[in-house]
Amino acid sequence: MSNTPFLSERIHRIKPSPSMAAKALVDKLRAEGRDIIDFTIGEPDLPTPDHVIEAAIAAMRAGRTKYTGSSGTPELRKAIATKLLRDNQVEFGPQNIVVGAGGKHIIFHALSVTLNPGDEVIIHAPYWVSYPDMVVVNDGVPVVVVGSEPEGFKLTPAALESAITPATKWLILNSPNNPTGAVYSEEEIRALGEVLTRHPHVWLMSDEIYEHFIFDGSKHVSPLAVVPELRERSLIVNGASKGYSMTGWRLGYGAGPATLVNAISKLISQTTTCPSSISQAAAIAAFAGSQASPQHAAKVFAARGKLMAQLLKDAPGMRVTPPSGAFYLYPSVAGMLGKRTPKGKTLNSDMDVVSYFTEEAGVATLDGTAYGVPPHIRLSFAASEDAIREGCKRIVAACVALG
Ligand code: PMP
Ligand code: GLU
Repeated sequence: MSNTPFLSERIHRIKPSPSMAAKALVDKLRAEGRDIIDFTIGEPDLPTPDHVIEAAIAAMRAGRTKYTGSSGTPELRKAIATKLLRDNQVEFGPQNIVVGAGGKHIIFHALSVTLNPGDEVIIHAPYWVSYPDMVVVNDGVPVVVVGSEPEGFKLTPAALESAITPATKWLILNSPNNPTGAVYSEEEIRALGEVLTRHPHVWLMSDEIYEHFIFDGSKHVSPLAVVPELRERSLIVNGASKGYSMTGWRLGYGAGPATLVNAISKLISQTTTCPSSISQAAAIAAFAGSQASPQHAAKVFAARGKLMAQLLKDAPGMRVTPPSGAFYLYPSVAGMLGKRTPKGKTLNSDMDVVSYFTEEAGVATLDGTAYGVPPHIRLSFAASEDAIREGCKRIVAACVALG
């Protein structure tokens, strides 16, 4: 692609999404007949709730199959406003909400309507693979702040303070976190918020897509609930994908000041026009209807995370920290580096570990290099219990086989 002058300089700046590329590799290997256990993509294996599917069918039968307004339907934006108050203790009206084709779509559009060349965006590492590239493709500069491993890789107030410059535009905060599973407590959020209150030019993008999945009995804390002073310069990003097993419906939203939300909506009117009318009708049922499905999923993922962490404790060379939320493990594989595989290859990086697991054990994972903190790997436990048992058995055997 680098030798393709017809394509823009912009597209050459970024790489394909590593999580999507890993999913494509799994699909390809399976199509070739390989038996692959997939721990790559962060996608609940649970079904979309029945009442949500019924709402989509009813909407189609009622002819709600046309374009909607670019910010989403008034009914859905009202349902989201009600949800924000109910679940997050944050009060926004429908005029403060914009709906898009996934949380990712909202993040991209928010960056696109706010970044000028050279503007900096603080991203704490390990980070979700798409943040830095979405910043770069929109002319911004990612400022990566690596968390300390013993502190669960969380961003500390001191690290945030020292990363802020006059060029800082955004801090992207992600709790529960992809890929570490770290969950910020109310005190931690408040302390970060206090730093931001001292720097009025910095906006907060709070990515709360994993809000339902917290395993230690605590509750997700939306920063705006504890630091309401940030309300005029914050964007909450969330969606239906993870909590309601609706990844393929492509439905996410942003909530924030009307000026920002209107700018995002203006750009959407020139890109995707509006989110899918059918997915929007379904999302009303998801956000306003029974919350049994995310509550059930939270219990299922808590048990699976515990199971995967327990099974991988026996993998020599791997150091596993049990997750507090989301549905990922992010173990260190430092203890595997320098070892030789049964075929005589030396493992020199977390990328080598991922290739070894894929090729020799039939288990697909993602390298921590893509998440900004090697040598780690990311494993998604949004997979069935059988897949977790079999995949971990294979990984442990592959680790034991190293010389
Ligand atoms: N944020 C994070 C941290 C994610 O892992 C994802 C995963 N897909 C998203 C946002 C966006 O999800 P979606 O576009 O499906 O709403
Ligand atoms: N966010 C999911 C993940 O981290 C997958 C989808 C994506 O990356 O866009 O695996």
